[in-house]
Amino acid sequence: MDDQTKKPPQDETRTCVDCAAEFVFTAGEQEFYERKGFTEKPKRCEPCRRRRKQQRAMTGQGGGR
Ligand SMILES: [Zn+2]
Repeated sequence: MDDQTKKPPQDETRTCVDCAAEFVFTAGEQEFYERKGFTEKPKRCEPCRRRRKQQRAMTGQGGGR
């Protein structure tokens, strides 16, 4: 094979910036990101991402001080 311009994506182990846990950015997710045009890789593990989403939803709902 001489077509080496594109490597198939491989699972990548990353460290979460919030809780420092290691999580896997899978080949499938990388493909998904690329298809979506995302240039940034995820910085947070799944639970942290979900927590942030929930927190944002909660602050939006609260409205008061
Ligand atoms: Zn995390």
